[in-house]
Amino acid sequence: MRTRFVLIVLLLSSLAAITGCQQPKPGGSEALISGGGQISVQEMAALLGMRVDETTAIHVTLKNATNTVMLFTFAGGKVYVNAKPICEVGTVNRIAGQIYVPKSLVSQIRAAMSARPSVSIRKPSGCVVIDAGHGGKDPGATSCLGFQEKTVNLAVAQKVASLLGRSGVKAIMTRSSDTFIELEERAAVANRCDADLFVSIHADSCPNSSTRGFTIYVSRSASWSSRRAASAIVKSLAKTGLTSRGTQKADYRVLVQTRGPAVLIELGYLSNISDAGLLRDSSFQSRLAQAIARGISDFLGRIAL
Ligand SMILES: [Zn+2]
Repeated sequence: MRTRFVLIVLLLSSLAAITGCQQPKPGGSEALISGGGQISVQEMAALLGMRVDETTAIHVTLKNATNTVMLFTFAGGKVYVNAKPICEVGTVNRIAGQIYVPKSLVSQIRAAMSARPSVSIRKPSGCVVIDAGHGGKDPGATSCLGFQEKTVNLAVAQKVASLLGRSGVKAIMTRSSDTFIELEERAAVANRCDADLFVSIHADSCPNSSTRGFTIYVSRSASWSSRRAASAIVKSLAKTGLTSRGTQKADYRVLVQTRGPAVLIELGYLSNISDAGLLRDSSFQSRLAQAIARGISDFLGRIAL
């Protein structure tokens, strides 16, 4: 009797396994959502003849041989086809590790895709210019602890250049000592070597001594590449423990006059006692430099989109 019962249980469980009754199909929720005007990014990629190249907390990149599609998946995020914004992403749902977006995006993206990319693929020069702000007769801001901005800028810039050099990047400094260099010449250094990225390093100051944190600036008409470089550095610097003020736009002359991608980093506020203390500390300068170098490397890894 007992043996028969065991046999029946075994028979029923193997039947369930054959018919697939034991586990819900992984695609079950996907099919349900697709019916409701949404589609998973994997389905979207398949319909567009693309592959999902990268998924982060804020975006998904789809690629094929001739097109790159970026969907920024936060509220109000845009969809870019070959670096051109085409529309907003709309409602994004995350279910069981899958990202779902409106199905209507497929036709909009398809219409914007081309047989050939609309942006020319720039061949990387392999050169990055690191610009230590101020210098010589121009000290920059003076910190509430008494030291000058130009010294912090140079210390961090030298560490960044050295880290990049060690990882095989040709890092050129606009100044490697306490010398004065015109703003135009700083941008010209980047333009002469057709730099893959120009990074100007500064430290902030303002009348309100409680203001603190780092900021990355791009010009008002910044290229897509400049914005991507800024977001890579923001992401990396945020891990140092400094308050992130994110990416801001300002037409600093070095940003406007550099032809290639360009960002300006304000490391923190010299007018804030906590930031000033950190920026004066050589080991914290090294942490900042590592974070900046990592952000630059992340950006360079994706330069040939
Ligand atoms: Zn400055």
